[in-house]
Amino acid sequence: MKGEEIDFQQLDRNSIIALLGAHSSLEKELFQKADAVKKRETGNKVYFRGLIEFSNICGKDCYYCGIRKSNTFVERFNLTDDEITNAAKFALHENYASIVLQSGELTSKSFILRIDRLLKKIHQLTSGKLRITLSVGEQTDDTYKRWFDSGAHRYLLRIEASNNELYRKIHPWDGKHQHLTRLKALELLKKIGYQTGTGVMIGLPFQTISDLADDLLFMKNFEIDMVGMGPYIEHHHTPLFEFRYSLLPLNERLKLTLRMIAILRLLMPKINIAAATALQAIDKMGREKALKTGANVIMPNITPGKYRNNYKLYDNKPCTDENPEDCTNCLETRIAMTGNEIGLGDWGDSLQFYKNRSSNKSFDPNIKNI
Ligand code: SAH
Ligand code: SF4
Repeated sequence: MKGEEIDFQQLDRNSIIALLGAHSSLEKELFQKADAVKKRETGNKVYFRGLIEFSNICGKDCYYCGIRKSNTFVERFNLTDDEITNAAKFALHENYASIVLQSGELTSKSFILRIDRLLKKIHQLTSGKLRITLSVGEQTDDTYKRWFDSGAHRYLLRIEASNNELYRKIHPWDGKHQHLTRLKALELLKKIGYQTGTGVMIGLPFQTISDLADDLLFMKNFEIDMVGMGPYIEHHHTPLFEFRYSLLPLNERLKLTLRMIAILRLLMPKINIAAATALQAIDKMGREKALKTGANVIMPNITPGKYRNNYKLYDNKPCTDENPEDCTNCLETRIAMTGNEIGLGDWGDSLQFYKNRSSNKSFDPNIKNI
């Protein structure tokens, strides 16, 4: 399909597939259009989310993930409440305005109560000035509601693969990794009133270009508020590692991710799209490239340095030797280079969420951004 035959305003499945495999001049046009739509709809601000990877203890066994339960080579860690609240205070001090609490998935009573306690404590210590995103996996309706009431405003739960068959191939069939459960969890989050985020890994073994096109259409049909999607990167202590020879080269996975981001920006002009950290594992400027092709969010890692090496979801995870302060400095310069500016002190809520669900509990237009 030639560029002139593609209606960029009304992308259907066939044109998405064509764009995912586009030749370079069409790719250039796609990237330019996505950047223009991003600037028109969300401005040239890039919002920061301070990422706190507070524990690598996980009850699940996803075949792709380096911190899966059965990986006995991993030294497990769990930050103390003080370490977490100090990281949150650091984010406020740096004017990030938002944090993400991420960990392996646990569903024990003590874990649920701990998150609840942390949410309240962080809001109290930061005078309610931070937007808090959770990314701690599948939980019950009651748990999601409880955390929402305690001040979690956003939730990230990647569908990983919208194709049920593909999902089955990358997870064990043990009753704990069901596609339908994940989908239901996303629906619960949306219904409760969270700004809901999802995403997929790009370049997985067994994944086709049509799967990726369907992933994008899934996000659109679901009317998702935020997306974080990045390249799949193999980890040597995981079951999927044996399929490494069937994978696209890393630079192709990077390219495909940038195209996915650009197409998604055209399909959903008002959502927040994160430039995933995994992009940086492939190319030092990978995230910055994503900021030029439609992404508008970046998640600097503010986990205390000594724990970073143990939160390795994939090989070559970047920034593991740095301290949070280093990340802020290097990012400021890099973002200016992309023609964007940092939306410091601004919550940067998803405009899609505002558009669709302005009556929603978690969005109060009377609350001014800090
Ligand atoms: N336990 C939570 C959150 C932490 S994992 C959850 O699973 O939802 C966060 C994300 O890391 C996952 O959603 C997955 O998409 C991504 N991830 C895991 N292993 C990866 C790998 N090998 N390459 C790229 N991304 C990976
Ligand atoms: Fe656990 Fe999340 Fe990794 Fe799956 S992807 S093993 S749930 S940390």
